[in-house]
Amino acid sequence: MMVCMLTDLEKNAISEHYRTIAENLPNFCPRPAQREMIAAIANAFSRTLTREQGKEAPTREGESIVVIEGPTGVGKSLAYLLAGGVMAQTRQKRLIVSSATVALQEQLVGRDLPFVVQHSGLEISFALAKGRARYLCPYKLYQLTQQNAQQSLLGFETPLVLWDSKPKPEELEVLRNLAEQFAARTFNGDRDAWAEKIDDGLWAKITNDRHGCLKNTCPNRAECPFFLARDVLETVDVVVANHDLLLSDISMGGGVILPAPEHR
Ligand code: SF4
Repeated sequence: MMVCMLTDLEKNAISEHYRTIAENLPNFCPRPAQREMIAAIANAFSRTLTREQGKEAPTREGESIVVIEGPTGVGKSLAYLLAGGVMAQTRQKRLIVSSATVALQEQLVGRDLPFVVQHSGLEISFALAKGRARYLCPYKLYQLTQQNAQQSLLGFETPLVLWDSKPKPEELEVLRNLAEQFAARTFNGDRDAWAEKIDDGLWAKITNDRHGCLKNTCPNRAECPFFLARDVLETVDVVVANHDLLLSDISMGGGVILPAPEHR
């Protein structure tokens, strides 16, 4: 059974925040297409699927899906972030926004979401979801450098057995810097947060994938940048992802990389 129920609270919240934007921006011109889009999205998110008695899984009939195409100038980002943001908060879900390009993800977290927060008064929190390969695996780094946060950083020696070929001095220098700054908490393990370019081959040695990861048996699980970033995704209103991550998550059953489907 499909239940459609956009509450008065939700309708009022969306109208209120939309009006606040118009008041805050003197040149803002409310656009009918944008309002129509906001209503369509809010209505789609308001339809919850309930499981019929005796049936294994709810059947999706398409009513909770809306497909929208609009030309440049409609203000699509504002429409889906406002309607989706309000609905995520009132329904206690995460809104997942997925795009194909890094440029659009950066635009969302760097411009569109801060814009909505600043001008609409809607206090939504957000985070960018990245693949595991963007994060340092401290377990592998410590294996290569034989260092950990508790040990002295002075006696740096690398076990050559873990290398395919003899490491170059500059590679060892990069690893030593990474280990030192990670131990000192001046580097959070996100490759994009490291100022210099890190060679892809070297980075491959100190990142991990789901097959190589020790998960809960890992001694460095508590400081693992990937899992710490993953935990943040459970606490924000909006998660900005990309299609690769979303499809990978779905292919693994959901809830592995991104918040679980029932919570998003
Ligand atoms: S939990 Fe996995 S990715 Fe994280 S440090 Fe341990 S092995 Fe590396």
